[in-house]
Amino acid sequence: MKAAAFAYARATSVVNALELLAAHGDRAKVLSGGQSLMPAMNLRLVSPDVLVDIGGLAELRGVAAKGVVLVIGALTRHVDLLGSREVALHAPLLRDAVAHVAHPAIRNRGTIGGSLAHADPASELPACMVALDATIVARGPLGERRISATAFFKGIYETALSPGELLVAVEVPVASPGSTFFFQEYARRHGDYAIVGLAAHAVVEAGQFADLRLGFFAVSDRPVLASAAGKLINASITPTLLREAETTLAGELDPQEDQQATAAMRRYLATVLLRRCVATLLARDELQAGVAK
Ligand code: FAD
Repeated sequence: MKAAAFAYARATSVVNALELLAAHGDRAKVLSGGQSLMPAMNLRLVSPDVLVDIGGLAELRGVAAKGVVLVIGALTRHVDLLGSREVALHAPLLRDAVAHVAHPAIRNRGTIGGSLAHADPASELPACMVALDATIVARGPLGERRISATAFFKGIYETALSPGELLVAVEVPVASPGSTFFFQEYARRHGDYAIVGLAAHAVVEAGQFADLRLGFFAVSDRPVLASAAGKLINASITPTLLREAETTLAGELDPQEDQQATAAMRRYLATVLLRRCVATLLARDELQAGVAK
């Protein structure tokens, strides 16, 4: 199938893009890399009257460390994140996660802004944003506003953005010296959407979690910042405590059943990822403590 007929406007600046969006309201859609929008249009799941192409706006591209945050422009492509020295240094979780997003052809065009605005609950990057406590920067007719990642994702393909707004950047706190990360997902084949995944950020001190943020994906209608992590912070991790955290986790997830997995299977796989994450991060800390002696 092919997309329904639509008009096309190539924005010349962010201001121009906002004018075009204001002129066409909810009949317009922003086009970035097109890797989610074009398939959806071809399947006639969405049929915008006008596409506002922001792909040429260099001002929305690039990664820069500014003080305590890493600012990533909305048009920064997946492939740019993979190759970025700043990302590797300050937010290595993103590099680990992007390696699991689709395939090179899609990563060469798809952008971080498009991925976050699309808000697929099985996507890797939204869960990373929640785990990293990132801030989404949006610009609209009334100016700029900052939205915490935990408040940004509202449901399946639903975000806090209004139709006239553009996602212009994300601000990711730079990794502190004690930060450590974990990323794993279950997928049928590498590059497929995840059946269940976990993106985590932690600070481990003397064998305990001083901080732990667990961003699960494909287990609800949006990425989930698991409150189960609270049970594991500033505590000795015993098998009993871990089981309690798993029970809390299973209770707070609301997975969907589809052709890939039942809800029960997704809950179970999430607890397996929790166990792996805890074991991996504590073992890494033990190894580093051993090396330091
Ligand atoms: P577009 O397709 O251009 O836009 C997506 C949506 O976001 C549209 O609604 C658009 O209007 C809106 N939008 C885009 N940019 C902005 C902005 N700056 N401000 C406001 N709204 C905006 N994704 C994964 O996460 N993991 C996967 O494993 C994965 N596998 C895939 C496999 C295949 C075969 C395909 C085709 C896609 C896959 N994807 C996957 C989806 C895809 O990679 C991302 O969703 C995509 O990269 C989104 O970025 P984009 O720039 O292409 O966005």
